[in-house]
Amino acid sequence: MMLSTPFTFSQSSLQDYNDCPRRFKLRYIERLMWPAVETEPTQDYERHQQEGSLFHRMVQQNIIGIPTEKLAVMAQSDNLSKWWDAYIQHAPNLDGYTLFAEYTLSAPLGDHRIVAKYDLIAIKPGEKAIIYDWKTYRKRPKNDYLAVRWQTRLYSALLERAGNHLNAGAPILPEQIEMVYWFANYPTEPARFSYSKAKSQRDWGLIAKTIAEIDAEKDFGMSEEERPCKFCAYRSYCDRGKKAGEWDEFNGEIEAEENFEIDFEQIGEIAF
Ligand code: SF4
Repeated sequence: MMLSTPFTFSQSSLQDYNDCPRRFKLRYIERLMWPAVETEPTQDYERHQQEGSLFHRMVQQNIIGIPTEKLAVMAQSDNLSKWWDAYIQHAPNLDGYTLFAEYTLSAPLGDHRIVAKYDLIAIKPGEKAIIYDWKTYRKRPKNDYLAVRWQTRLYSALLERAGNHLNAGAPILPEQIEMVYWFANYPTEPARFSYSKAKSQRDWGLIAKTIAEIDAEKDFGMSEEERPCKFCAYRSYCDRGKKAGEWDEFNGEIEAEENFEIDFEQIGEIAF
């Protein structure tokens, strides 16, 4: 077994394992950080990443009560002011909900643990629990693509299992959960995914199976296809091309790296 115990799994590490087991090993076991740029030109990629982080921060600040006019001064680039206008005009109406912004949930699973950091969880106790994730993708991904992403599966599953304390102590039923991706570039076309008992059973089965597979993994082989390599920081380790993919072709997600050094004392974790 190569994993330390407990090993903390997140949607990004599970997704990386899915896309390429070797990338999982390099990033989460060997912890090799960013040896190569992921796209060219680098500045465009980095600027978009910074703008994305700032946009998330502005929304979070607004949710905790800072007025929109005060935050508007932070929107100092074309993208940011466009996204901020879109947010002001089309942000979800969450009157009557209790809001938990930038909230982390975690739960143990066997020898390991799973964790998710939510942009926003909006709860009406006993009625509805909506997960929001703000996305600054340049192109709106298809719902079919999003439906099978680890983020969609893990966020709903974990809220159901570890979110009782946000729901006045009562269990959150799968049917009460909805996951919404809100796209700053497509503010009137959010992607919504309802949840159900059947989906929850399927997801927990898949989570347990994938974690068991990673736990038993010895090879962590390279992805068969070379498609994931084009925008991968580890190309030089794998001899899969020296040149980064073009920024114009990049449709993926760029968000600041998740911080895995989480203080578990601070997180609502349940034992089961
Ligand atoms: S370059 Fe390709 S094979 Fe190597 S870690 Fe990245 S995705 Fe996997």
